[in-house]
Amino acid sequence: MNENYKPLLSYSKEELTDLFKTLGLPAFRAGQVRRWVFSRKTDRFSQMSDLSKDLRAKLTELFARPKSGAEPAKLIANGSETVAAETFDYDDSLYESRVVAKSVSDDGSEKLLLEWRDGRRVECVLLRDDRNHRTACVSVQVGCAMGCVFCCSGMGGFVRNLTRSEILEELLRLNALLPQDERLTHIVVMGTGEPTLNLDALLPALAEATSGDGLDIGNRRVTISTVGIPAGIRKLAEANVPYKLAVSLHAPNDRIRDAIMPQNRIHPIAEVLRAADVFFHTTGRRVTFEYVLLDGINSSVDDALELARLLRNKTAIVNCIPYNPAPELPYKTPSNATVRRFVDALEGEGIQVKVRFRKGDKINAACGQLRWSLREKE
Ligand code: SF4
Repeated sequence: MNENYKPLLSYSKEELTDLFKTLGLPAFRAGQVRRWVFSRKTDRFSQMSDLSKDLRAKLTELFARPKSGAEPAKLIANGSETVAAETFDYDDSLYESRVVAKSVSDDGSEKLLLEWRDGRRVECVLLRDDRNHRTACVSVQVGCAMGCVFCCSGMGGFVRNLTRSEILEELLRLNALLPQDERLTHIVVMGTGEPTLNLDALLPALAEATSGDGLDIGNRRVTISTVGIPAGIRKLAEANVPYKLAVSLHAPNDRIRDAIMPQNRIHPIAEVLRAADVFFHTTGRRVTFEYVLLDGINSSVDDALELARLLRNKTAIVNCIPYNPAPELPYKTPSNATVRRFVDALEGEGIQVKVRFRKGDKINAACGQLRWSLREKE
């Protein structure tokens, strides 16, 4: 077993090249290994067939995941839609996690529940659509401290940040679900956790995902979604990241937002909107405001009109998301007619609106729901 285990994905291109040089290996070998990982979707050193047997053995010794002895997880929910868990017992896997559960929806969405070597679990989702978009939705933390009342991810509280290699591994695992001639086209950082509280891991992972010899996903096809932490939004603006920003607003006033998003009691709407303005003026990129529609809570025509007043004179777009219900929570999806009236009222006030219809509701696609339903180890 490799006692000083440091996963391959924790090395940037430069770091890997330096390591190879230190080991007396030609620098171009680092590029070869990266091509296997990023372009050819390989997750085992033994499959890197254009490397010598000795080099493959060396890579396994350096980077392969130590055996953990963990038993395959016992599946406790989700019946036939969930596949049996992997074990950790691959001798030469470059991944750190194992797949505990995989669920597939009729609409082509696939969700993976990954377990890391410390037994902690996160979800990530592959979303397919008829525009040939292949979107990865990734988590950035195990659990979440933000406590949004409609979200399963917040139910167990915050556990820890994911590392850069763990975030990258989510992307690679989702990419590998696609046929060899397809690859991810978009990334949304909208899974579990608050991205702006883990930028030190997230930004290097996204840099790999968007680099030409990484996953080569266009910068503008990456969206970071925040609950609305003003300092985090300003940090993204100062860093002038080339990605899109989405802010989860979910309410037209502080009274409703306080009730469904406890974070609002610390950073009320006005503060969040000021930070979003800074992002727009610094980067020139329009901010998307996410708005999950909860029946009877934030989805009336009056709510829409109040939201329109809030966003008047802003270069912004509102992304309305009819709530994806979770059996563990009491919230309901509004009727199609209610959604229509809400959208019409916003558009009538000159606000640009998109409606994102639910995908993957057969696979516990609500944020954190699969992890929560299979929470045996948490
Ligand atoms: S919606 Fe996002 S920010 Fe809110 S609790 Fe869930 S994961 Fe955290």
